[in-house]
Amino acid sequence: MSKVIVSSLYNSPVFKQACRQFDQAADAISLPETLRDRTKYPRRCFAVSLPIQRDDGSVTVFEGYRVQHNISTGPSKGGIRFHQKVTIGEVAALAMWMSWKCSLVGLPYGGAKGGVIVNPNQLSESELERLTRRYMQELIPFIGPDTDVPAPDMGTNEKLMGWMMDTYSNHVGHISPSIVTGKPIALGGSQGRREATGAGVAYLTKRYLEDFKIPLSETTVVIQGFGNVGSEAALALVDYGAKVVAISDYTTGIYNPQGIDIRKALQYIASQRVLLDFDGGEPITNEQLLELECTVLIPAALQRVITPENAGKLRCRILSEAANGPTTYQADRVLEKRGDIEVIPDVICNAGGVIVSYFEWLQNRQNYYWDKEEVMTKLFRILDRAKESVEAQMRRYGFSRRLAAQTLGIQRVADAKQGRGLFP
Ligand code: GLU
Repeated sequence: MSKVIVSSLYNSPVFKQACRQFDQAADAISLPETLRDRTKYPRRCFAVSLPIQRDDGSVTVFEGYRVQHNISTGPSKGGIRFHQKVTIGEVAALAMWMSWKCSLVGLPYGGAKGGVIVNPNQLSESELERLTRRYMQELIPFIGPDTDVPAPDMGTNEKLMGWMMDTYSNHVGHISPSIVTGKPIALGGSQGRREATGAGVAYLTKRYLEDFKIPLSETTVVIQGFGNVGSEAALALVDYGAKVVAISDYTTGIYNPQGIDIRKALQYIASQRVLLDFDGGEPITNEQLLELECTVLIPAALQRVITPENAGKLRCRILSEAANGPTTYQADRVLEKRGDIEVIPDVICNAGGVIVSYFEWLQNRQNYYWDKEEVMTKLFRILDRAKESVEAQMRRYGFSRRLAAQTLGIQRVADAKQGRGLFP
């Protein structure tokens, strides 16, 4: 008997989605009962209260979380999300996916994730700095370069990672760059880290296009979300010779069957902050965008955007999951039944970010820095190896690509737990 009493702490649709995926994978590999619950549920979590002085002198208390899902395979690793709708259940699901992702690609890390309930666009720069530093201050007793290593995620970027590194370093009394990854280059960041997630998405998409014998020159791409990941994936795919026909952010979608000028869109965002009124194509809604006919659809924003309602209407050949958890469990069943869409699942598709985070952490610890070519070559080699292992697992057991990727990641975490005992 190994049933845990699960409280309602993480109760949310996205945590349920991650749990259902886990249950399916655990059944598929006949994971022993004694290992199931302790591999599935987060090891620990923290909720912190963050009182911040606003520019007008008032005080606002924000709430932040950190969930350390698995610490059996190394320090836990994962980004920090600043979003007005973030919940601890969402953070727990994202932490779970980090565990499988790190194990799948062979990084010596466990999985974690953090979140703060805030819309960062509604804070001034100095308010954002105070919030970021305060969040790090609250986490100091629970994290460290050998314990738990944060990184950027949605709503956070390299500037915030710099503030976090500085806050931690001031506390310990010496510079400690390996406490977070995704830092600015001047503060110990790695060449290629900013591009890494999007570049990895584009690279894997290219490798699968080659497998399916679809020429890049005939490839059309639709991208939902034009933040760091979506825009870097767009740039890399255009450089490979594909045509990006639609992009979107939370204000609008833009469609141009002739191909969108991605660099022009980035310049527009640099000055206007959002895509609204960008004249590089026709405005379309988010729903229309997801259902456009294209070779590759890349959800690169929030979780749970491919649903049972729209999964039957997708008109892509490849679904490259740049976001974490973009496809609901039920939508997956629809896609499996259809059988005409190749899914590159999130845990491998967007692993480029954490892989180069690992390189950054290694460079910090060695105080020896690599050039961009070395970073990219090593990144692509790891992605190729992970892809081969996923394809082999699919062939061997007849699994879907998601099930193959998840079972590989979950098996490695479970093996470590089995070997170590009940404590970690
Ligand atoms: N937030 C990213 C992810 O979801 C990167 C995590 C990291 O670099 O640690 O994979």
